[in-house]
Amino acid sequence: MKNSDRIWDLVEDRRAAYRGLANRVFDTPEIAYTEYASADAHEEQLRAEGARVERGVAGIPTAVIGEWGEGGPVIAILGEYDALPELGQEPGVAEERPTGGPGHGCGHNLLGSAAMMAASALADWLKETGLPGRVRYYGCPAEEGGAAKTFMVRAGLFDDVAAAVSWHPASLNGVNEPTSLANSRIDYTFHGRAAHAAAAPELGRSALDAVELMNIGVNYMREHMPDDARIHYAYLDAGGVAPNVVQAKATVRQLVRARDLPGLRELIARVDKIAEGAALMTETRFDRRVVSGVSNIMGNRPLEEVMQVEFDRLGAPDFDAADTDFANAIRKTLTPDHIAAAFRRMGMATDPDLALCDFVAPLDRPHMGGEGSTDVGDVSWAVPTVQARVATCAVGTPFHTWQLTAQGKTPAALKGMEHAAKVMAATARTLFQRADLLAAAQAEHARQMAATPYVCPMPDEVMPPVRARA
Ligand SMILES: [Zn+2]
Repeated sequence: MKNSDRIWDLVEDRRAAYRGLANRVFDTPEIAYTEYASADAHEEQLRAEGARVERGVAGIPTAVIGEWGEGGPVIAILGEYDALPELGQEPGVAEERPTGGPGHGCGHNLLGSAAMMAASALADWLKETGLPGRVRYYGCPAEEGGAAKTFMVRAGLFDDVAAAVSWHPASLNGVNEPTSLANSRIDYTFHGRAAHAAAAPELGRSALDAVELMNIGVNYMREHMPDDARIHYAYLDAGGVAPNVVQAKATVRQLVRARDLPGLRELIARVDKIAEGAALMTETRFDRRVVSGVSNIMGNRPLEEVMQVEFDRLGAPDFDAADTDFANAIRKTLTPDHIAAAFRRMGMATDPDLALCDFVAPLDRPHMGGEGSTDVGDVSWAVPTVQARVATCAVGTPFHTWQLTAQGKTPAALKGMEHAAKVMAATARTLFQRADLLAAAQAEHARQMAATPYVCPMPDEVMPPVRARA
């Protein structure tokens, strides 16, 4: 006999509305801080669900929060709806057909819809049971390179929250491994002195030389960093197009990633020293500007255990033959390496014939490298946080590709979305019911914060780079 659960029923009751929301957001792909149409869609749905709505929180016009319930603890359910530049792609076809604009290459049309689906189902459940408690949906824009959640944390929007629950679309099912990296983007601008490069080179002091020497210094440092740290760079200003003018000004952006916030601060201090060295060698000076920062994800074992129990009870999504056929058509466009590496993150080999993930990974599995960064990290330093990964696409699909966008409106994706809503809603429901589990999660979080206090990686003077409505 199949398991049943009232909270799953409340999620299923909303199927049509939230498939509509996910598809509507897919059809209006907008990049970081321009998500006006998507935020409008989320705000409308929150109002239709009877939430108390606050738009424009943390000074970000495309952020929206909706809350239901009275008294008790506040459980946050985190959603996203931003798209990626250049990844517009016709949905439902297994060949590259770009639409020429942004696209949902990371599945955030599903992410936000499932989160609100879970939150509103919980709102009904709280009403039915009469339990005290509030559930709050956080519509978070600009996850991709925008770090909106970091600003939202800094603005104190999580100060009264007991725990946060979220998910991300994936090609596998499991509780998320808390292994994302902390990162910071810092622009180093060197100032030298212009001169004619042939007639009077001795009068010039080259800012471009300083940038190049800085990069050489960073390259030498790479051998002596922790294995999982990363530093990437981009020339923002190479000093102009004239090689016969000594470049008076040049800017390089360094993107530093580290295992955790203390490790990030250590590495940044070393990069700063390299900049000082480059300035010393070239008789230039430099200024630095922190452009953005996000924290690593802080795991929370008690919450992960609660979510694992709920995920195991629910099992994997029920995909059918049509879902499998389309997944296989997409997989024909992937390399064998992509498919073989599909489950590497969780230390598992991939069955080459598995088109859609049909199992829930165990909680205790090897944590492998190869991860990026997310602004959910900062929420996890503010409050105990847990995320699910739920299969919405073919095994092996790399994210941030046309193949992922192409699967953004498929029946399989929408099934995965509803499944994610059930996992999140059931997890939060258990936290409302079990004060002891919530207290254990908070105690674990307090212990972690005592050991490594949170310092927001986003400096106070950096404001959200909001954009006006087009
Ligand atoms: Zn994403």
